[in-house]
Amino acid sequence: MSISIHPIQMGLDTVYIIKGESVILIDGGDPHKLNVFQEGLEKASINPKDIQLIILTHGHWDHIGSAKDIKDLTGAKVLMHQKDMKFLDETYPSQPPGITPWGKVIIALLKLYSPLIRIPSFDVDIIVDDEGISLTEYGIPGKVIHTPGHTWGSLSVLMDSGEIFVGDLAMNKFPMRLTPGLPIFGDDIQVVKESWRRVLEMGAKTVFPAHGKSFPVDVMREAVMISS
Ligand SMILES: [Zn+2]
Ligand SMILES: [Zn+2]
Repeated sequence: MSISIHPIQMGLDTVYIIKGESVILIDGGDPHKLNVFQEGLEKASINPKDIQLIILTHGHWDHIGSAKDIKDLTGAKVLMHQKDMKFLDETYPSQPPGITPWGKVIIALLKLYSPLIRIPSFDVDIIVDDEGISLTEYGIPGKVIHTPGHTWGSLSVLMDSGEIFVGDLAMNKFPMRLTPGLPIFGDDIQVVKESWRRVLEMGAKTVFPAHGKSFPVDVMREAVMISS
């Protein structure tokens, strides 16, 4: 079964529509971006009602912001890891610790902006644990895997054909990074690297980050080796 991949830029976050026998969505974008999402669907000739599942890679505000609006539009189920459910209870979104010096600067700036951010609340239909789940029953040849480190409940989606959608387990976009590599902020960089070592053994070939363009997984092989 082949798949097609349709990215939509929803503010800081790029969300990905994956079309196989059925359609799923990875991530929910910045808040108030439903119109951009609908334009993206039209361009890709995808009917919103065909989307069966919305997988939130993690609970940061720029990945869950429009989840409620998209859920209302599509009727899709929302899936998240149990350890990131806590983000849904926050009045103002918290920001993760900076890892690199530049990451610390970005986080300090984001903290000033946090009180202005409001996330419309929504229900999570499928809460996964560290085992993850197969996507076969959703008509997609792939699986959801637990890849902690950026947050404790971070998920990635690995296709049988080697594409991997990693949320913020890697970054490839200014102002975060100039070249693809490890995240510059997150809960635990050592755990990020452990997740990458597992992913590298699972046959991933092309990395699709939530911030920036896709790139070959060998970049991460080097990044994990150099900085271990
Ligand atoms: Zn994040
Ligand atoms: Zn992010």
